Amino acid sequence: MYLKICPVCGNKSYGADLKGQWICPYCGSDISKEPCQPLRERKKDKEVNPNGTN
Ligand SMILES: [Zn+2]
Repeated sequence: MYLKICPVCGNKSYGADLKGQWICPYCGSDISKEPCQPLRERKKDKEVNPNGTN
């Protein structure tokens, strides 16, 4: 997932990939060339064992 912030309307737009055009769903502007930020998915890699025993 990627995030772009539309420079026209300022809304956040989320997309699955960077292929093709990226149209702001709020104002319809083409924001394909705007810088995007990769979204980190929250993963619990280190799950703490509440019992403390293994
Ligand atoms: Zn917009």
